[in-house]
Amino acid sequence: MGIRELPPEVVAQIAAGEVVTRPGDAVKELVENAIDAVLGTSSAARPSGTIWVEIWDGGYTRIRVADDGCGISPDELPLALHRHATSKIDSAEDLQRLGSLGFRGEALAAIAAVADLSITSAIGDAAASVETVNGALGPVGAASRRQGTTVAVDRIFERLPARRKFQRAPSAESAYIGRLVQAYALAYPEIAFSLASDGRRIFSTRGAADLRGAVVTIFGPEVEREMLVLLDEREAGDGNLEVLGITGLVGSPDLHRATRNGLFFTVNRRPVDSRQLTFALEDAYTTQVPVGRHPVAIIDITVPPEELDVNIHPTKREVQLQRERLAFGILQQAVRATLGRSLGIPTIGSRPLDRSIWDRSEWSAPPSAPLFSSGSQVAGWEEQEGRPRLDGLRILGQIGLTYIICEGRAGLYLVDQHAAHERVLLERLDHRLGDQERAQLLLEPAGIAIPPALRGVAGECIEALNGLGFTAELLGESELVVRSVPAALPPKGIDRALQETLETLDAEGVRPDWRQRLAVLLSCKTAIKAGQHLEVAEMHALLRQLDEANLCATCSHGRPTAILLSHAQLEREFGRR
Ligand code: ADP
Ligand code: MG
Repeated sequence: MGIRELPPEVVAQIAAGEVVTRPGDAVKELVENAIDAVLGTSSAARPSGTIWVEIWDGGYTRIRVADDGCGISPDELPLALHRHATSKIDSAEDLQRLGSLGFRGEALAAIAAVADLSITSAIGDAAASVETVNGALGPVGAASRRQGTTVAVDRIFERLPARRKFQRAPSAESAYIGRLVQAYALAYPEIAFSLASDGRRIFSTRGAADLRGAVVTIFGPEVEREMLVLLDEREAGDGNLEVLGITGLVGSPDLHRATRNGLFFTVNRRPVDSRQLTFALEDAYTTQVPVGRHPVAIIDITVPPEELDVNIHPTKREVQLQRERLAFGILQQAVRATLGRSLGIPTIGSRPLDRSIWDRSEWSAPPSAPLFSSGSQVAGWEEQEGRPRLDGLRILGQIGLTYIICEGRAGLYLVDQHAAHERVLLERLDHRLGDQERAQLLLEPAGIAIPPALRGVAGECIEALNGLGFTAELLGESELVVRSVPAALPPKGIDRALQETLETLDAEGVRPDWRQRLAVLLSCKTAIKAGQHLEVAEMHALLRQLDEANLCATCSHGRPTAILLSHAQLEREFGRR
């Protein structure tokens, strides 16, 4: 076969292959044309327009996109279907400063090369329609239509069996088109979009120019509530502020999804796919969203038109930003600032909680001072003989495997299970200093290996250990043998706790009060941990034990063991008074 020029239909089909590879590509081009048409006619009097998208069988049978935009005059209708015929740019310079989504003038021609296309359009009362059948343009016919344009695309790829064979299932294409139209609806909340598939309404936005409103109609109010306005905290006068704007909504980390379908990026309001933008955004969520899950976000980046090249990709789905790194950096900063700010707000309201059911000033009071005054700080609190009781509280459960949640007369109590147990153990150890009778004999002596570095500290504190109720001795130089442990401490895991205690003491250096320090460390290391499941009976026992403790207000590190959310506070938080 010699070299020859291809017939025009073949050239058109080859070119179409780049722009229209699937029904969704045709939808995209038609929706962009409709947006350009609608925005072209918007004014203060008529701020927004409407775009209707309907598909049948994932767009394979029929796609119809209608708008109430500027329309095409009857005499220009055939021109719209010519390759490189466009009303949107005049010169190569216009390409540098695009104000419209379309500019190449090839979409309609490309669709006509792979499907039967009909356009009906009206400007005022002047309405007309044209059709292409098998790529051949028919005559302009009379029509009646209100202002705007309807484009229908029938039996796409039917003339190209090879292309048809590699298409996705209609259901997959419907889903793709659904997300595509969502992306435009979110990018242009001032336009009312509606999407129907096989006669069923999928969603419609109101076109009220508010992104949150669009989010409600597309994703539902539950999602909208969890979306935070992106904070852009760059200072005015920052040179980057003028060249790069960033706005949008980002989901709270709790809103994560299995796919990235909740991520929408636009650059100068043009929906784009960008691996880098996705990466930058998800990076700002790391450790907040579980591994393998993805956040929800709707982000628009604005750059001067001359800094943006949209002509690098046949369907304009990818764009080139001149200052990519800057954009990614600013995006990350903004997302982090937004999420960080949201974490700072307590879930139950903007006012901080009372720090403790116990008056804060008493935390540092000497042990001999009365811990609980029956005065104002604890008024309403479950009092018995002038001091609070946790014993009578109704246990509602455990939250986060860390806090015991209970109800009492005064309100809602949260008890930190680790802090509470640590306090209980410490008091028991303190009270039974030297009480050998209360030691529990281990069935089998525990041997704790003492590495050379810990020998000094082990030798120094052995006496203090025995004073606390241990029966321990050093065997040779490298083993600590423990035959009994204080009844106050849970014997399980005591060897590990002892080893860690020695390590901590060693790291802290020499201290004169071995006994007290040992007691604090051992109570901390043997106490119930945060993250540990507790049965109701265990929670009851813990509250009872905490009642018995003298210094029950705080753990040995000074953190509160419990906090109260009083009825009065609840009423304030809920605006009841
Ligand atoms: P482009 O959008 O790149 O200009 P297209 O082939 O998509 O090229 O469209 C060709 C021309 O047809 C457009 O420039 C526009 O003048 C006209 N056109 C297409 N769709 C519409 C529409 N929905 N409303 C008004 N004019 C339209
Ligand atoms: Mg176009």
